[in-house]
Amino acid sequence: MKGPVNAHVHLELPAVPTVAGAGFLPWVRSWIHDRPASRAHAFANAREVAGFGTGGVVDIGNLGVGAAAMAAAGLDGLAFHEVFGFDEPDVADGVADATPHAPYSTHAETVRRIAARGGPWSMHVDEDPAERELLLHGTGPWLDALRVYGRNLDAWRPPGLTPVRWLDRLGVLGPHALLVHCTLTGKDDLELLAERDVSVCICPRSNLHIGGRLPDVRTMLDVGCRVLLGTDSLASAPDLDVRNEVTVLREVFADVPVSRWERALEGDAWAWLARSREARRTLPDRDAGSRRIAPEGP
Ligand SMILES: [Zn+2]
Repeated sequence: MKGPVNAHVHLELPAVPTVAGAGFLPWVRSWIHDRPASRAHAFANAREVAGFGTGGVVDIGNLGVGAAAMAAAGLDGLAFHEVFGFDEPDVADGVADATPHAPYSTHAETVRRIAARGGPWSMHVDEDPAERELLLHGTGPWLDALRVYGRNLDAWRPPGLTPVRWLDRLGVLGPHALLVHCTLTGKDDLELLAERDVSVCICPRSNLHIGGRLPDVRTMLDVGCRVLLGTDSLASAPDLDVRNEVTVLREVFADVPVSRWERALEGDAWAWLARSREARRTLPDRDAGSRRIAPEGP
């Protein structure tokens, strides 16, 4: 028995006090400036996750420590290295584990290049209303935040699309994509994700902590999305035991049989991992290093 898969976690982040229920930007501002991530936290959290009986994880990190922490704890799975850059593409062509962070933080060309390699990738998508507002209308708190962070928005135009439709227009949606959260994703977009064979990882307790709402789980299941479960980090979840996500889901969606969540934790998750690892084997080694690619103007 391999045990459940925690399909979205940031092992390197510790438990930190954060703002709750006010949305993504107030939440992230309440802790990010302290830069609390560390190698030590990654190793300690991986040990703790293994102690819960979890067999595999999909880890997202910035320190390049996830794979080592997982191996030391005996955890199976995949470790990804997040890449950012809203106004300039920044893709680590030689880094097999590069993955785009989110639509409000990653250049379209970066997403395209990573997905085009044919390996697995995982991106935070449709987590918060500000993200949708930025992409649909080019307004709202993310526009202000990007300016404060010094991004050059002179050439940027909002795509006028939801995050899912934006990704689809980039031609990147397919079986190697793992979209995380989809908290605000509507029925049409969920149908598209099912049609494209995309996997969705929901993190219910993180969503409740940050934005006070859950994704439309019932529609996800009704339209045939492949749903996996994750805890997200200790900055938004009280612990990293992915089975506790099921406890919340069973309270809210009492008529969904528990076997459906077992499938999300094990059968579907291990199948995605197996397919993803196979695809990653064909990618260049990390040894090739990373490099910046020249920005391509609109
Ligand atoms: Zn996350």
